[in-house]
Amino acid sequence: MKYIGAHVSASGGVENAPFNAKAIGAKAFALFTKNQRQWNAKPFTKEQIRAFKRALEEVGILPKHILPHDSYLINLGHPNKEQRQKSFEAFLDEVRRCEELELERLNFHPGSHLKEISEEECLQNISECMNEVLKQSEGVTLVVENTAGQGSNLGYQFEHLAFLLQNSIDKSRVGVCIDTCHLFTSGYDIRTKDNYEKTMTQFDKVVGFKFLKGMHLNDSKAKFQSRVDRHESIGKGEIGLDAFSYIMNDDRIDDIPMILETIDESLWAQEIFLLYNLHI
Ligand SMILES: [Zn+2]
Ligand SMILES: [Zn+2]
Repeated sequence: MKYIGAHVSASGGVENAPFNAKAIGAKAFALFTKNQRQWNAKPFTKEQIRAFKRALEEVGILPKHILPHDSYLINLGHPNKEQRQKSFEAFLDEVRRCEELELERLNFHPGSHLKEISEEECLQNISECMNEVLKQSEGVTLVVENTAGQGSNLGYQFEHLAFLLQNSIDKSRVGVCIDTCHLFTSGYDIRTKDNYEKTMTQFDKVVGFKFLKGMHLNDSKAKFQSRVDRHESIGKGEIGLDAFSYIMNDDRIDDIPMILETIDESLWAQEIFLLYNLHI
């Protein structure tokens, strides 16, 4: 079964996010558990945690269908040791916030080498940070997202994701999230049935569907292979609707949060309805 939702607002408190999801007909959702543009956040109060869990029960959405996203400031691959440590601590704090809310997954971008170190060294840095977080936490799966490969961001090839999984000290607590916009602009075509199958077969060979713990469903303003990250509403961009119908009818993609990060929030309810209706 498919569980579709959107990256909803948690403004006014995390306990509001489930209701924002419910209001657009979502069966899954993503959220920031803190302000994504700041390093520090106040810890949750006991009352907030209780309110969040009550809200989830009320809307009937399960923790495994929720995909929190970490802060945009975090770079686990940072070439500078002090900066990397700062990112590590912020990331660990985000994992702990997920633990407190009893959420099972945390979505993050691999990191950037900032043209100061090699891709290999950067991946090694990210891997070490992930392993240290796994040692110091429990219960939360680290879900690394593929990227468009803009700037010096890693994660634009399946091999980058595979490296991080293979070097993990606990393979039961790592996974990946495929963002369709990033997938497409990083050079994996999904516009025709043939190319969709080719891309997904390659994904399965290099990464493995068993590690797929979430998806971001976005069309793309930017062209194929442009390595530019510009999301578009479903069916209105360079990818087109067919690709989403292949996804909605792909049995290898089941029981995971599938999250819209499309640009026009006022369309989310329609987009969710549209996607469910693509399922034959
Ligand atoms: Zn992301
Ligand atoms: Zn994304």
